[in-house]
Amino acid sequence: MKRFKEEIGIIGPKAWLIVFLVWLALTVAIIVLFTVAGKPGDPPFWARVFLTIAIPVPLGAYAALIAYVHADAKRRQMRHVLWTLLAALIPNAIGVLLYFILRDPLAGACGGCGAVVKGNFTFCPACGAVLGSVCPQCRRTVEPGWTVCAFCGTKL
Ligand SMILES: [Zn+2]
Ligand SMILES: [Zn+2]
Repeated sequence: MKRFKEEIGIIGPKAWLIVFLVWLALTVAIIVLFTVAGKPGDPPFWARVFLTIAIPVPLGAYAALIAYVHADAKRRQMRHVLWTLLAALIPNAIGVLLYFILRDPLAGACGGCGAVVKGNFTFCPACGAVLGSVCPQCRRTVEPGWTVCAFCGTKL
């Protein structure tokens, strides 16, 4: 739950304002539809109350999800504008699903110079420092605990 709160925390105040406005606009539109433009034969009162919650709340939550994709893609140094558009425009949340499948590892800071580097980088592009363990033979990233390089067979 703490992690969830931290993740939600990356959504900036401007994005929250947009999420709020999406929810508000939908709620107002539905209320207007049933009151100002109300006519006999409309659904009964309880059904109208239900629709006023059941339509804008999930769509507002979806807008928050898209705001999360925007903030998260930016944090991971991905093409955040493109991913936000894909998340918003591809129907049935397929864009959002694709994002969670394809997103890059979380960016970190280079221990040498402090530059923000992608999680899958082996060397810092700013100062050339080694970011993870590398195989001395083929220079590919090796994982902790390996005794032999999985790519070229060199003993580590
Ligand atoms: Zn560096
Ligand atoms: Zn190797």
